[in-house]
Amino acid sequence: MEFEPVIGLEVHAQLKTKTKIFCGCSTSFGAPPNTHTCPVCLGMPGVLPVLNKKVVDYTLRMAIATDCKISSRSRFARKNYFYPDLPKGYQISQYELPIAEFGHVDIEINGDKKRIGITRIHMEEDAGKLGHDPDRPVSMVDFNRTGVPLIEIVSEPDIRSPEEAGAYLRQLRSIVRYLDICDGNLEEGSFRCDANVSIRPKSTETFGTRAELKNLNSFKNVEKAIHYEISRQKEILMEGGKVVQETRLWDPVKNKTSSMRSKEEAHDYRYFPDPDLLPLVIDDEWIDSVKKSLPELPDEKKKRFQEQYSLPLYDAAFLSSSRDLADYFEECVKLFPEPKQVSNWLMGAFSALLNAEGKTASESPVSPENLARLLDLVDKGVISGKIAKTVFEEMAQSGKTPEKIVEEKGLVQVTDVSAIEEVVSEVLARSPAEVESYKGGKTKLLGYFVGQIMKETKGKANPKIVNDVLKKMMKT
Ligand code: ADP
Ligand code: MG
Ligand code: ZN
Repeated sequence: MEFEPVIGLEVHAQLKTKTKIFCGCSTSFGAPPNTHTCPVCLGMPGVLPVLNKKVVDYTLRMAIATDCKISSRSRFARKNYFYPDLPKGYQISQYELPIAEFGHVDIEINGDKKRIGITRIHMEEDAGKLGHDPDRPVSMVDFNRTGVPLIEIVSEPDIRSPEEAGAYLRQLRSIVRYLDICDGNLEEGSFRCDANVSIRPKSTETFGTRAELKNLNSFKNVEKAIHYEISRQKEILMEGGKVVQETRLWDPVKNKTSSMRSKEEAHDYRYFPDPDLLPLVIDDEWIDSVKKSLPELPDEKKKRFQEQYSLPLYDAAFLSSSRDLADYFEECVKLFPEPKQVSNWLMGAFSALLNAEGKTASESPVSPENLARLLDLVDKGVISGKIAKTVFEEMAQSGKTPEKIVEEKGLVQVTDVSAIEEVVSEVLARSPAEVESYKGGKTKLLGYFVGQIMKETKGKANPKIVNDVLKKMMKT
């Protein structure tokens, strides 16, 4: 029997506000444990939470960017449960009246577009962090993260494969980064994803029972865990068994999921409206002012790049995946107006460099000015495309201008025909047998000669002139 996966993602994005959601404590990361705390976020009796307006602004940005319907009146609710990282015994979240609903995000896989529905976006507070010492029978609790603002973005079960899940998650991350509301870092936990996975016989309507996967702290793990879960559930159904609804933990070392707990139901949390917080009223003016402050978003930029710079979809998607890279591209093109050439460099050597150094485009050791000047040197024939790669690496190392490097290392391209003729004669004189074969019709040997000449000139000979001279000298 053929099965079809059904997947919905719940994403928690930590908002980049300076202070927490209901108190003035700092949200900055890495402080000594329990130093960013106050009676409010420690949940002392009698204290009152006050909503941070920035949290609403940031959430509205996301809601608008994903085309959600924004509720003019939403509410905070208490989600009650006991855990040592939750000092109040409840988490302030939103339940029946979230701030935003009915949105969507568009993804594209190999040119195929697909729309993934967003069920809801709501605001909530983060919990504290537990630490465990393997050598001592104790757990340590740090409340610095308690009360740090999160938005939860819940997707419709519209996703049908691990690859679509990855594409959706990347698109969401790209949006929160464009909006500058979240770091989007899965590894460090500022952007977290739970995946709900079920399968059903192909071309049936009813959803199967789902498992919720946790501990997916990289894009690779998200896709791997969903893959694994799909095959696990297939196996169960093929053997006539039943999938149980539960929460499962991904183990990135063993590459499998294992049961963590049976799935809790909403009514177990005894949600009720938080009596300490007023309903949140958002008027059109507020929404309009946030709308006006939004930057150009990834999809808009992608479309503009295709039109304005006549770039292929692949290039436009690559360049617009991060705002940083897109800005870098546009700065380069301003100085060297050959978009496709700039794009090729950014997708090639430039990306390789950033990946190797773990840097973003704005942190690149090669400035857009210097890259544009390098491309200009190639364009003017001062250096060859091959030498340009060497100069680029040197720029990354030393930060020097390309002109300076070309001058210091004597890399200027040799375009002097008589100088090239001299080298060609030498090389031909050294290889009489190959010359005979060439003349006898083995014209593929041209590449061999070009290689020899490039070696002799350390790559500096102008390739076109080399080709012309070679052909001329080997005639008859
Ligand atoms: P909960 O809060 O208990 O996790 P929700 O109803 O909010 O439950 O759903 C959470 C996520 O699970 C959503 O992203 C939704 O799309 C997804 N989902 C719901 N039912 C299924 C299913 N049968 N298979 C896969 N995903 C599902
Ligand atoms: Mg859930
Ligand atoms: Zn506090």
